[in-house]
Amino acid sequence: MTKTTKREQIVRTKAAQLMEQVQSLGLLLKASVVRRRFRCGKPGCRCVRGHLHQDMIVTRKAGGRTQTIRIRQGRETEALAWLENWRRLKQILAKLTAVEMRILRMPVQETDPGYAIGFAEARAQARKTARPARKRPRKTGV
Ligand SMILES: [Zn+2]
Repeated sequence: MTKTTKREQIVRTKAAQLMEQVQSLGLLLKASVVRRRFRCGKPGCRCVRGHLHQDMIVTRKAGGRTQTIRIRQGRETEALAWLENWRRLKQILAKLTAVEMRILRMPVQETDPGYAIGFAEARAQARKTARPARKRPRKTGV
């Protein structure tokens, strides 16, 4: 085995490990989470004396609009965990991209599938090689 392929294998192993990390993350929340403190406005409520109410708000941008929801009590911890997973996903993806760029700079072996072909051809081949989008389960008419 040449030095180049061995080095590439090491880097590809690293990429595979990063993909495993992605898969083990759990649910992701791509949104902003904000803790809010507020007065409810009811006279005589404890919030009037300074013991403010608290809740948590999730906002996300969707189709150019901002969607805002209030998290139900008891779901805050889960929301924060998903948010943290999203943050970690971005870190992992940044590492993965760096690893992929290392691979892309490595010389191609003649046995590699993409050896010495044009860009258009490589693109057509990549479409075939890439994992196809998962098909929606067909409705069974129940
Ligand atoms: Zn109140």
